[in-house]
Amino acid sequence: MTQLSPHPKHFLSDKVEHFTESVIREMTRQAMQHNAVNLAQGFPDFSAPAEIKRAAQEAIAADINQYAITWGAKSLRSAIARQMREWQGIEVDPEKEIVVCCGSTEAMIATLLAVCNKGDEVVVFEPFYENYGPDSILSGAKPRFVSLRPPQVAGAEWTFDEQELREAFQHQTATHHTKAIILNTPNNPTGKVFTRRELELIRDLCVEYNVLAITDEIYEHILYDGSEHISMARLDGMRDRTITINGLSKSYSVTGWRVGWAVAPPAITNAIRKVHDFLTVGAPAPLQEAGAAALSLPASYYRELAERYRTRRDHLIPALEKAGFRCYLPRGAYYVMTDISAFGFANDVEFAAHLVKDIGIACVPGSSFYKHPKDGSQQVRFAFCKKPETLDEAATRLAKLALG
Ligand code: GLN
Repeated sequence: MTQLSPHPKHFLSDKVEHFTESVIREMTRQAMQHNAVNLAQGFPDFSAPAEIKRAAQEAIAADINQYAITWGAKSLRSAIARQMREWQGIEVDPEKEIVVCCGSTEAMIATLLAVCNKGDEVVVFEPFYENYGPDSILSGAKPRFVSLRPPQVAGAEWTFDEQELREAFQHQTATHHTKAIILNTPNNPTGKVFTRRELELIRDLCVEYNVLAITDEIYEHILYDGSEHISMARLDGMRDRTITINGLSKSYSVTGWRVGWAVAPPAITNAIRKVHDFLTVGAPAPLQEAGAAALSLPASYYRELAERYRTRRDHLIPALEKAGFRCYLPRGAYYVMTDISAFGFANDVEFAAHLVKDIGIACVPGSSFYKHPKDGSQQVRFAFCKKPETLDEAATRLAKLALG
């Protein structure tokens, strides 16, 4: 028999051709390799709250070690429903409208797999959190990007062009039409917190073009300068066409627990539950119990969380500015997007490589938040969810950059 040597791509799905590995996770690997301060991937380097660690330990000791109900432990679903009522005034039926997943990452892709068909388009603001592109492609949809424009003067906000957004919704051919918009507020990587007016404008388009809103609200409690987080599902006309995604990772500093959820009207929830069941069966059972304890922390916990991150933001930004970065002040989440034109590098990837190897700081190249790399070629993102001493060390190393 003649031996056929298959083409290297012979065994691969076409889908994986259309996206690359995560740059954010790659930068964490590089940070470890170069012993750099990791301001790339957004995870805290300080302890999670003692109460919730204890709750996790107790749940394991009490033998909550087998599968939870596939769509989520009742205690956690009830706590999610209670929080949505208390924080946003949204009534949710925990029996029919919640799916607990392995992180908001799974909640997002399970949702897209549950709602998208071939030919569907998903509107995404750009710069975007890098998962949304591959998530859309894997679920058979096509992302359609709408620009968020950086502030032109210090302290101003990222904005979008209403007409450009309308055109993205309007875009329709014999085979393609808009199914959903993915909205991330507070936003990664820009730190933008969408205002009520902006959300109402998006709402009006969703209603006019019969489009779903899939909202990633993972940074809902991380807000600065008096900004307010408004859930899309709370706006008139949106309850029946919104899937709200959230999780434990950012609010409780437990990114490794992988507990997130999607909240949606019953028919959509059913579809997400089916996908989720076959993807992962369920999120870790003891950590779901600990999640219920986390969601019961008092209001003061969230005030302190936001205040702690505001201090971190105001610690890192002056050090970056002193070194020559132009910083776009975030109003929420724990990242700062910066402009690197002053350093005269050909692009963000070369700059990030220099920063991690020669200066000892890992950041995320801006191009990983854009469809066309050149659009992010003079930007990089830093995460400031770090201990003060980590940020001090980063500031010391940044001084070398300024001198160099
Ligand atoms: N959301 C975080 C970030 O943007 C972590 C991403 C991840 O690796 N899951 O850095």
